[in-house]
Amino acid sequence: MANLIIDPRDQKFVLYEMLNIEELCKAPLYADFSRDMFDMVLNEAEKFSTTAIFPTLAEGDREGCRLVDGNVHIPKCYHRSAQIYREGGWPTMNVAAEEGGQGFPLVVAMAAKEWFSHNSAFVSYFSLTEGAARLIETYGTETQKKKYLPKMHEAVWGGTMALTEPGAGTDVGNLKTKAIRRPDGTFRLQGTKIFITSGDSDIMENIIHPVLARIEGDPPGTGGISIFLVPKFLVNDDGTPGKRNDYAIGKIEEKMGIHGSATCLINLGDNGECYAELLGEERQGMKIMFQMMNGARIGIGIQSLSGSSIAYLPWLEILRGLLDWNRQQEMDRAAPTHIPVPSGSRKRLEYKPGEPPVLAVKLQEMFGLHDTPAVCNGRVPVMIHLLSPAQRPVQVTQDLRGFWQRTYQEVKKELKGRYPKHYWPDDPFSAIPTARVRPD
Ligand SMILES: Cc1cc2nc3c(=O)[nH]c(=O)nc-3n(C[C@H](O)[C@H](O)[C@H](O)COP(=O)(O)OP(=O)(O)OC[C@H]3O[C@@H](n4cnc5c(N)ncnc54)[C@H](O)[C@@H]3O)c2cc1C
Repeated sequence: MANLIIDPRDQKFVLYEMLNIEELCKAPLYADFSRDMFDMVLNEAEKFSTTAIFPTLAEGDREGCRLVDGNVHIPKCYHRSAQIYREGGWPTMNVAAEEGGQGFPLVVAMAAKEWFSHNSAFVSYFSLTEGAARLIETYGTETQKKKYLPKMHEAVWGGTMALTEPGAGTDVGNLKTKAIRRPDGTFRLQGTKIFITSGDSDIMENIIHPVLARIEGDPPGTGGISIFLVPKFLVNDDGTPGKRNDYAIGKIEEKMGIHGSATCLINLGDNGECYAELLGEERQGMKIMFQMMNGARIGIGIQSLSGSSIAYLPWLEILRGLLDWNRQQEMDRAAPTHIPVPSGSRKRLEYKPGEPPVLAVKLQEMFGLHDTPAVCNGRVPVMIHLLSPAQRPVQVTQDLRGFWQRTYQEVKKELKGRYPKHYWPDDPFSAIPTARVRPD
């Protein structure tokens, strides 16, 4: 397989054969695009992902973020990738041409993101920025658009979404952050926000936070919530970042597996001077924020797909190797090899013979447990345990465990250097009990 981050053939199958996205080019909005252009951009995404984003995955998680004198420092290796991300024009792929973007259809932009999102800690600095910018594009005044959008589109300034508070997560209508009206039409915020992804970083010159709060005197519940723009640095008349706003990063929160992402607790207005501008109309905060939340939901879907893919494809390659090896053994013994292929409606998603079927079919095929352990001489279960040790606690003899351990060491030796060290624990089988052989 050419790439173990995502399978380009699988992606193109979904885009062109299932979704038929070339049809979009017939619409006036996308008349300047073609399949060649989509392919070109996806090939570039693959290159960028493989050479600049994947290499920071393990390193970024190991280094993590640091809070020093009130400022967040993100992993050093992200800085170079961020620069390439900006220079490659990735932040504006889906921004309309009249806004200075490239105007690609969302589906193509998301397919490019699929290449990047296995490293969600890195990508979140940009996806949050894009979401916040889109919010300003849709609901901002002309002044706000002019003030914030150009730098956000370049991803030189960042963005976040600040909803959650202690005691107001799912029940966001319970939030306590209050907005105090000033005679000049601006507001001052006071409250605490938690779990704010990309809440601060040293790769953005300024950060614009869309923040949910309740204007003093407005009704309780979600119907009384408004949304505000809170810049990290107030913007001078000439567009440069000016005075530091009155909010502080209280701490970086722990989120397993994404230590490169600065998830922040933010204290707003400890000195009563947290400057905020209303976005859209008063008491429309939830409706407005939902645009960004819906975008984030699509982003999280892509992140899940990309994360599953990078977990799955390397093992698929290993399994293929083992199955080939096993077939050879079987042939040597002149025994028939039977790998079950499931039937049913999903089968129509299979590729041409010889090409890999889609994930679900392949998993069923390889993990057809009634047949494969016998046929594959215990080698397929090795990988099943590596993939899901907790779900499938099979008891085995000490001998069989030793056999699996040796097989694993062989695979490890063969593939060492191609995957990060932490893919290769010393003894992945230690948790498997060794009392008796499973009857089947
Ligand atoms: C990776 C990650 C990134 C995040 N990024 C951001 C961000 O950028 N900005 C931001 O504002 N927030 C962010 N959050 C916070 C997120 O929005 C909250 O975690 C979410 O709203 C849930 O709130 P909570 O964690 O307080 O859980 P709770 O609200 O305490 O819920 C805990 C459990 O109780 C259940 N529950 C709660 N209320 C009820 C009820 N009435 N009836 C039945 N079940 C109920 C929930 O379904 C859940 O299973 C992030 C969270 C994560 C995990």
